[in-house]
Amino acid sequence: MTDCLFCKFVSGEIKPNVVYEDGDVLAFRDVNPQAPTHVLVIPKRHISTLNDLQSDDAELIGKLYLAAKQVAEEEGIAEPGYRTLINCNAGAGQTVFHIHLHLLGGRPMGWPPG
Ligand code: 5GP
Ligand code: ZN
Repeated sequence: MTDCLFCKFVSGEIKPNVVYEDGDVLAFRDVNPQAPTHVLVIPKRHISTLNDLQSDDAELIGKLYLAAKQVAEEEGIAEPGYRTLINCNAGAGQTVFHIHLHLLGGRPMGWPPG
C-alpha cells in the first residue's frame, strides 16, 4: 500500500532502526518507546488489522512471534520477561493500520493494562 507508513519501511523508502529482518518479517525500534526495549514486529505483506486475518495467514503470524522471541533473547529480556501485544482498531489504541506486534521489556510491566 503506497500510503502506509510501515509498507514504506518494508520497501526501504523510509528507513527505520531495524533489529531483525527475514523474507516475511521486519522488526524495528518504536520511535516513541514505552519501555527500554520497544520493538515493533511486522509482516512485510500489508494486513491492516487483526480483523483482516485469513486462515492462510496462520504461519505468517507465527513468524511474528518467533521473530519477537529472537529479538527478546538478543535484547537480554527473555529471562526477566517481556510483553507482546497487538492493538486492533482505534478503540484498542491502534494508530498505524498495518498490523504490528509490540515487544516491550526492560522494566516491570503492570497488569491489567489500561
Ligand atoms: P499502535 O498504536 O498502532 O498499536 O502502535 C503504533 C506504534 O507505531 C506506536 O507505538 C508509535 O510510537 C509507532 N510509530 C509511529 N510512527 C512511527 C515511525 O515513524 N517510526 C517508528 N519506528 N515507529 C512509529
Ligand atoms: Zn502497510
